[in-house]
Amino acid sequence: MADRVRVFEVGPRDGLQNEPRPISLEDKLWFVRALVRAGVKELELGAFVRADRVPKMADTPQIYRAITSGALDLGGARAWALVPNRRGLRSALRVGARNIAVFTAASEKFTRRNIGMTISESLREFSRLLADARARGAEIHVRGYVSTAFGCPFEGKVSVGRVLKVVEKLAALGVEQVSIGDTIGVGTPNQVDAIFKPALELLGPERVAGHFHDTRGTALANALRALELGVRTLDSSAGGLGGCPFAPGATGNLATEDLVYLLDGLGLRSGIDLTALCRASLELSRRMERPLTSRYLQAFSASCD
Ligand code: MG
Repeated sequence: MADRVRVFEVGPRDGLQNEPRPISLEDKLWFVRALVRAGVKELELGAFVRADRVPKMADTPQIYRAITSGALDLGGARAWALVPNRRGLRSALRVGARNIAVFTAASEKFTRRNIGMTISESLREFSRLLADARARGAEIHVRGYVSTAFGCPFEGKVSVGRVLKVVEKLAALGVEQVSIGDTIGVGTPNQVDAIFKPALELLGPERVAGHFHDTRGTALANALRALELGVRTLDSSAGGLGGCPFAPGATGNLATEDLVYLLDGLGLRSGIDLTALCRASLELSRRMERPLTSRYLQAFSASCD
């Protein structure tokens, strides 16, 4: 199993949410189908958040209704959605969402700006949310994000101790996997060592994921270091879509194409067909009328001309 890597595709949510222009529901559904056809098995599709705060995620219930009605066939891939609170959970359960992601951060100022709570408040809310789901008899899978683990746009350096404390608390709540994120793309491989070694010791490789951003060109180096340490789930977005609206200057998740090219080269299996993925991203780029940042995709595109 050690040569298998779970690529957690966040493009349809983390990516598209942060695109300057809105994307139509039709284009989103097309994009998700294309990703699934390329072999993506884990997909972050949307967020059950306030439409006035994050208008681009307002169509998440419609995406789930398309799944339930059979209009969107995921072919066995798992759909995930962000849920910030109990209200979001109720909306999610109503449309059949069963894989949910909760999110907090390792720095207070970012958490406050991002979800309007302190870190402790957010953890308390998740605890209530999970109890709520259990009380309703809902079989849900829960993933937890820890943002700003490598640095905060408002506070600067974030200590490893603070990151691990949040990781530990999420795990204690029963979160199946904790995704540790470099939200603003400042991390370097020595930080990956410092954070992921103890996180892996604490939770084991099944429960740890890495979420890297390429803002300063270090995402792939960090991903490689995480793989060497034994991490087997990495978040990425097709074409390198996305950033974070609450983190000024944060652009670009690790691109799935770049990650899959690395994995293929290392003999690690993701199940993703790189050519099919590139075709999907190029078509999305055409529909969005903007180039995407993935380096592999750019090389692929040039070789197609
Ligand atoms: Mg991201």
